[in-house]
Amino acid sequence: MSVKRLLIKGGRVIDPASGVDGIRDVLVEKGIISIIDISIQTEDAKVLSAEGKWVVPGLVDMHVHLREPGYEYKETIETGTKSAAAGGFTSVACMANTNPVNDCAQVTEFIRNMAKSKGAVNVFPIGAITKGLKGEALADIAEMAEAGVVALSDDGKCVMNAAVMRAAIEYAGMFGLAIIEHAEDIDLKQNGVMNEGVVSTRLGLVGAPRISEDTITARDISLAEYTGGHVHFAHVSTAGAVELIRFAKQKGVKVTAEAAPHHFTLTDEAVGEYDTNAKMAPPLRESRDINAIIQGLADGTIDCIATDHAPHGIAEKEVEFDSAAFGIVGLETAVPLSLGLVRDGRLTPLRLVEVMSFNPSKILKINRGTIQPGAVADITIIDPDKEWVVEPSQFKSKGRNTPFAGWKMKGKAVATIVNGNVAYEDN
Ligand SMILES: [Zn+2]
Repeated sequence: MSVKRLLIKGGRVIDPASGVDGIRDVLVEKGIISIIDISIQTEDAKVLSAEGKWVVPGLVDMHVHLREPGYEYKETIETGTKSAAAGGFTSVACMANTNPVNDCAQVTEFIRNMAKSKGAVNVFPIGAITKGLKGEALADIAEMAEAGVVALSDDGKCVMNAAVMRAAIEYAGMFGLAIIEHAEDIDLKQNGVMNEGVVSTRLGLVGAPRISEDTITARDISLAEYTGGHVHFAHVSTAGAVELIRFAKQKGVKVTAEAAPHHFTLTDEAVGEYDTNAKMAPPLRESRDINAIIQGLADGTIDCIATDHAPHGIAEKEVEFDSAAFGIVGLETAVPLSLGLVRDGRLTPLRLVEVMSFNPSKILKINRGTIQPGAVADITIIDPDKEWVVEPSQFKSKGRNTPFAGWKMKGKAVATIVNGNVAYEDN
């Protein structure tokens, strides 16, 4: 719904940018946050009571697959952004592995126009690094930058040629864009369908070893250091990669990183008896990797939580494990899974909001991620205590591929406000 004035009353405002963590009222006028104060009295405003709830800058997911153009049976910009709103995200950045690939201004503009007419939340397109995601010639980076991409990535595929990657980092830097790397060496990964370890051996499945991620992470850190450019590592899954990124940051190399909720929640045991909803790339690892990722999120090594929301059709998942598609949906389960880290005492509420809103906004340079007077009124209201059960048939996403079906969750986004308008409200 669209209102001119919106008053959010009595919530716990958590805003890492200003360091605020306390009970406040927030007044929104014409899509902009106008006042934040202990108590605001005003007439003719729609009032949203937020007592007992968190009021945070709208969550930003810098890694989603909206599947449009080309794979509308999996997801569309409309359904994907509805899923985002239901999950508490006011902004998403969408990956380029559509059909056609987003490797030129035409596709970027199509996505932006479709988002404008059908999108429930803000959509920021990510352009491809290479033409057709082939890893060879650079995509039309200059024209895509002009058309409004916020980063570059061949996500789904690793840029295997180091010289291409070097050129991409250097060129992207000229436009102030980060390169987002899907770090998986395809030669080391071979036909790996899950983590290489005890479980893959027991199940007789081909494993993808940790080093397939670690070696590319090390290589790209070297390239970032050499070029002075910015490399962002997508969905970090190994303890080794966390350690490499920590060391790179200590040396002052311009690298950032994200981790996905499934990678800090589940181990490869979740594959169980060949459950294809536990098949993703990079794969679920082991408990020491989970611990390293959570430690990395806590100490600043990992900058963001991003879902890697990857919807697929039933036919792509209800097949034998080896031939199933990689990936799971993530937008509607990210908040409770991430809140678990706060309940376990691993992250403070301020740090959680930093990694789910402020930091991804900074990396993408999208001017979001804070609740302060004058800021765009993208706001998420979270009930940290709300208990609910994951029922995939209720997802706003077209995707049903989740390993969390039937899980009892605690915590949920109960209102999502985009540009001052309520895009989602949980009743
Ligand atoms: Zn990826």
